[in-house]
Amino acid sequence: MSNQELDQLRQQVEDINLQLLALINERAKLVQDIGKVKEASGVNRYDPVRERMMLNVIKEHNNGPFEDKIVEHLFKEIFKAGLDLQQENQQKALLVSRKKKPEDTIIEIKGEMIGDGRPHFVFGPCAVESYEQVAEVAKSVKAKGLTLLRGGAYKPRTSPYDFQGLGIEGLKILKQIADEYGLAVISEIVTPNDIEKAVDYLDVIQIGARNMQNFELLKAAGSVKKPVLLKRGLAATIDEFINAAEYIMSQGNGEIILCERGIRTYERATRNTLDITAVPILKQETHLPVFVDVTHSTGRRDLLLPAAKAALAIGADGVMAEVHPDPAVALSDSAQQMDLDQFEHFYRELQQSQPVRV
Ligand code: PEP
Ligand code: MN
Repeated sequence: MSNQELDQLRQQVEDINLQLLALINERAKLVQDIGKVKEASGVNRYDPVRERMMLNVIKEHNNGPFEDKIVEHLFKEIFKAGLDLQQENQQKALLVSRKKKPEDTIIEIKGEMIGDGRPHFVFGPCAVESYEQVAEVAKSVKAKGLTLLRGGAYKPRTSPYDFQGLGIEGLKILKQIADEYGLAVISEIVTPNDIEKAVDYLDVIQIGARNMQNFELLKAAGSVKKPVLLKRGLAATIDEFINAAEYIMSQGNGEIILCERGIRTYERATRNTLDITAVPILKQETHLPVFVDVTHSTGRRDLLLPAAKAALAIGADGVMAEVHPDPAVALSDSAQQMDLDQFEHFYRELQQSQPVRV
């Protein structure tokens, strides 16, 4: 074969490349249009029956030299790319996504503007045990000029024999303390039926890690007018976390604070592994405020301060930590709650190490 012939053949191949490219993109545009029609009519994007039919027609027309198996593989890749393109469009449409709303969401809770670029803090006991126990922490929170107080009334515990929380009595205690001290109270709700009731007692509804994918609970929290603090699931990916927030927002409630609280890994030195880079990722991907719970992520008192510093340095909008007047006798999480003196020290150190934000 002469060099000239080779050049000609190569030229033909290059021309076909461009034709294929044009055709693949033309096909992609049609697939996008189909996606829009499907979205409008609520039809499922992936249609395996139709895909099989198309592959059969293609194979019937295959005259080689490629074997059917190869042709099927190539077209399946093209189909998949088309489906991914449809999903990419859907991703862009997420209500919690920054692509949908470029500016930060700021949530007002009793005059405190969460997400305004300044750090915010949520302190309080793991569980509400008595009026006096919560009041002691409330005093200390109030004395620091802070507004947000936490305390669990419904405790999702690993063992059914462990303290399950005071339930409605706990919510009543929190409400009383909120009124007396002018604080905003945050507490976890574990069943959809309790959401309506919680609205009367709480300033923020917490959805715990174990319930991050309790979709009925998410929908119920999305249908009330009350800020929600959504914890990341025990083994949830960031994508799953974002979609859980989307469940809430799609019901009409956009006041959502995302809370990174560590995920389960093989590491045993800490109770969970604090996924610190989840903070900037969530801030980039969504317009929602992001908090870091240093108590449940580390499970270690000695790591609360460094973890909180890291959280603020990396751009968290707030930090959550548990404080108990007498952790040794706490009915839950006694190993990692701070006592009031440790709380003083923790907060002072954190104030002094305020990061310079870049
Ligand atoms: C809590 O904050 O009280 C709690 C139980 O945390 P998590 O859901 O993150 O485990
Ligand atoms: Mn706890």
